[in-house]
Amino acid sequence: MSAARLRLVPDALPEADDPRLDGLHRSVVVVGGGQAGLSMSWWLADRGIDHVVLEADRAGHEWRDRRWDSFSLVTPNWQCALPGFPYDGGDPDGFMVRDEIVEYLEKFVASFEPPLAEGVRAERLRARTGGTFEIVTDHGTLTADQVVVATGPYQVPRTPRIAERLPDSITQLHSSEYRNPDQLPEGAVLVVGTGQSGSQIAEDLHLAGRTVHLATGTAPRVARFYRGRDCVAWLSDMGTYTKGIDQFSDTEAVRHKTNHYVTGRDGGRDIDLRAFALEGMALHGRLAGIADGRVRFGGELRANLDGADAVSEGIKDSIDAWIAARGIDAPAEERRAPVWIPGPEYDEPSELDLAAAGITSVVWSTGYGRDNRWIELPIFDGRGYPTHDRGVSSQPGLYFLGLPWQHTWGSGRFSGVAADAEHLVGEIARTRRTTAVADGLHWLAGTPSSTHPLDDRDEDWVAPRTAS
Ligand SMILES: Cc1cc2nc3c(=O)[nH]c(=O)nc-3n(C[C@H](O)[C@H](O)[C@H](O)COP(=O)(O)OP(=O)(O)OC[C@H]3O[C@@H](n4cnc5c(N)ncnc54)[C@H](O)[C@@H]3O)c2cc1C
Repeated sequence: MSAARLRLVPDALPEADDPRLDGLHRSVVVVGGGQAGLSMSWWLADRGIDHVVLEADRAGHEWRDRRWDSFSLVTPNWQCALPGFPYDGGDPDGFMVRDEIVEYLEKFVASFEPPLAEGVRAERLRARTGGTFEIVTDHGTLTADQVVVATGPYQVPRTPRIAERLPDSITQLHSSEYRNPDQLPEGAVLVVGTGQSGSQIAEDLHLAGRTVHLATGTAPRVARFYRGRDCVAWLSDMGTYTKGIDQFSDTEAVRHKTNHYVTGRDGGRDIDLRAFALEGMALHGRLAGIADGRVRFGGELRANLDGADAVSEGIKDSIDAWIAARGIDAPAEERRAPVWIPGPEYDEPSELDLAAAGITSVVWSTGYGRDNRWIELPIFDGRGYPTHDRGVSSQPGLYFLGLPWQHTWGSGRFSGVAADAEHLVGEIARTRRTTAVADGLHWLAGTPSSTHPLDDRDEDWVAPRTAS
């Protein structure tokens, strides 16, 4: 999206096709117009706090433009609980498909008409003396008393550099670019990674009749249904999704662990890679090397499948214990034996000749990183993760929203973002300024290219690299 669209900024700027934001001041600037930024805006509007939401593309961009055609939510619709706008469609236990999710977000926007500047990218965020902020955008520079960064949990598609070793003849995509099987050239496909995206994309290709090779990783899995209900419903009753990160001893491990794979497609079902193998999908260990048109896999397929199943079975154990402790009347359910077990040959590293296997494309389902280099403030830890407590950063007046496990499992998802935004609006209201503050820039991080900060505003500026 190139042209900016500014709408409904009361008392400041007229609606304009190509607005400039120079000189605009708001009590709060929210950066990012996904579900997190919009939820923040809802709460700010609720408290009567003037603000503007800057969105580089269109509101809901991630759901519109970075999901495949057959995408459906993995979480049930009833977990879509944006502030003042819970899912109220006819299928609360179902799973919205991509276009329905976009429609849900559009209706949320229409329900309260947030002050939204679309097509405006925040390019720099700096602190000013006096504690306010300057936000440099591609449509001018504005200032704010407080800033909420809601730029998404999954920002920068991450493709390992080993990809450069594939022959030029191979079509390569990151999962964020994958749309449908027809987008890929004829031939077999290698999908790398078995997180939520990789396992669902492998299934999408498999259902379309494509020959699929799948390099597995250590992602866990969860069953869709157990003992008469969606596992998400049981886990919700058990308090899993509202348990605060502060209640875990291994915060870092919890925060950075891979999501469980399962699908909401066609009403929801398990993703069982063993069943795919029975149906002809070629499973491998992790991708370990690429050279001379040959791909090398590690010998950990058995461990990867066993590990994923162990997590799924462990979740069922915890559901059983919950049911037993409360005497809940739930139907019994047999545990399933593995439908396919890799032979001993899979325990050794193996090689695959891409041409001989007919592989013409690779889908890298290898996750996302974050790029916070535009935030020129010393608030990041050694991994580039912002230091914060429930989204309140160590820089007064600066907040984050929508981070994975910002506070709970639901933080980076539809289910928990409203509660996190409500927490932040409380902080914002509590610390809200009522008086104007002194002007002037104050460098807090990085290395300006001149010794005088005001001199180098149009120069290249080297910020500390914070992408993880
Ligand atoms: C494949 C996949 C499947 C998922 N499935 C589910 C699911 O089933 N259920 C669930 O609850 N969650 C799911 N999620 C997680 C989560 O709900 C989504 O990632 C969601 O998009 C997060 O919303 P957000 O508003 O925090 O961030 P985003 O949707 O990423 O929005 C951030 C916005 O900020 C904008 N932006 C970024 N940088 C700037 C800048 N510098 N200036 C201005 N604007 C900027 C972007 O354009 C974007 O629109 C899934 C995520 C992925 C990747």
